[in-house]
Amino acid sequence: MPDCIFCAIASRDIHGRIVHETEHSLAFLDVNPLAPGHTLVVPKDHYARLDDLPDEISADLFRTVDELVPRVEEAVDADATNVGINNGPAAGQEVEHVHVHIVPRFEDDGGNPIHAVAG
Ligand code: AMP
Repeated sequence: MPDCIFCAIASRDIHGRIVHETEHSLAFLDVNPLAPGHTLVVPKDHYARLDDLPDEISADLFRTVDELVPRVEEAVDADATNVGINNGPAAGQEVEHVHVHIVPRFEDDGGNPIHAVAG
């Protein structure tokens, strides 16, 4: 999809700090992290919203999230994570390419778990 920043990262047209890759999914660090290690997991192909995802792509995406959560926590010594999706502009989705936020959380970090992803 032209002008999609996450498609451009997936195609390596622009630089992303890629941390993991599977057949259908890509994980990279958020450029404006809410916490150290804030990671985004996206389908390599362009889908704007969750219900656009074919089953195989969705399964790969969520399997990848499941695998990465403990690895992200370990990498930054986090106590927990917020895992979330802003699905549609009214929910705070700014990049219209499905992405799952993995936001590391720390005891007493003072964040609001409800607002950690939606901002
Ligand atoms: P959302 O509000 O759920 O659409 O979140 C979009 C996220 O994408 C934000 O957390 C941004 O910081 C992040 N973001 C935007 N551009 C880039 C980029 N080029 N590389 C990595 N993360 C990005």
